[in-house]
Amino acid sequence: MAQGIHCGVEECVHNQQRRCVADSIRVRSRAVTGGNCKHSEDTCCETFKPRS
Ligand code: SF4
Repeated sequence: MAQGIHCGVEECVHNQQRRCVADSIRVRSRAVTGGNCKHSEDTCCETFKPRS
């Protein structure tokens, strides 16, 4: 389990009580082509998996 990752995406299957319990996570930039990642809003967790 990744340690110390606080995450508010409670719709994710890896989320338990606002903590990420995935073994690891992959995060990428959401910056548009040619742009730079400057804010947290410019990032995206690719490990997200919806509960269903
Ligand atoms: S996989 Fe990503 S979205 Fe899901 S709980 Fe972990 S950090 Fe949050």
